[in-house]
Amino acid sequence: MAGSGKFFVGGNWKCNGTKDSITKLVSDLNSAKLETDVDVVVAPPFVYLDQVNATLTDRIEVSAQNSWIGKGGAFTGEISVEQLKDIGCKWVILGHSERRHVIGEDDQFIGKKAAYALNEGLGVIACIGELLEEREAGKTFDVCFQQLKSFADVVPSWDNIVIAYEPVWAIGTGKVATPQQAQEVHVAVRDWLKKNVSEEVASKTRIIYGGNLDTISFVVLEEVASKTRIIYGGSVNGSNCVELAKQEDIDGFLVGGASLKGPEFATIVNSVI
Ligand code: PGA
Repeated sequence: MAGSGKFFVGGNWKCNGTKDSITKLVSDLNSAKLETDVDVVVAPPFVYLDQVNATLTDRIEVSAQNSWIGKGGAFTGEISVEQLKDIGCKWVILGHSERRHVIGEDDQFIGKKAAYALNEGLGVIACIGELLEEREAGKTFDVCFQQLKSFADVVPSWDNIVIAYEPVWAIGTGKVATPQQAQEVHVAVRDWLKKNVSEEVASKTRIIYGGNLDTISFVVLEEVASKTRIIYGGSVNGSNCVELAKQEDIDGFLVGGASLKGPEFATIVNSVI
């Protein structure tokens, strides 16, 4: 764990579940023993968000899987950030590969949603990740950096963002990235933040203390990169989570399939070391 704050584990339920199965999942989560030193968040489908938030233990926060770019109104089929906050939702997942590659959302649209959600006080789980052909063409870092930049260009601050690195070839395929593959990208992401975001934050920060300015600006420079949590997603399960969690720069997980089983999700939450 290199980012500061707690290990962060999110469960992305995607478009799965019924009233009955979700009642059972919530009851399993409510009775699970979860490490106290972990932030735990689940993202049910919109129609069950209120039900889950009302019945789930306060120990676990609730996230949406998407949100609209601005205030509500005449936007058929969309859900506004204000509505999410109204029912007690604290987070939203944005930039997930299924929204990028299946639904067709582009960097600019995703960036707008992230900026709006953050300005309104929701936490954002900002997803990035390369396709298999991009990895094979040696473009993993370029793709991730471009997606990061589209967030960095517009977000008002990094205080409430968790970055989820999710290689697309690992999502829902059972083909998890090796701990080394994940660690390599997480280090590169942290480095990118250091060079691109922290410097920007540092240059915008007014430092009015009259002591050693070089030292102080260095501290500001390091801050965003060192405190942002970078979590891994893509076929994480109860068997591979411990090895992944041992990696220095893996600060948690975003879990799809395995988050639909309460006991297995609890095992993943408890993989923190
Ligand atoms: P998966 O999904 O764990 O089923 O691979 C992860 C995700 O899409 O967030």
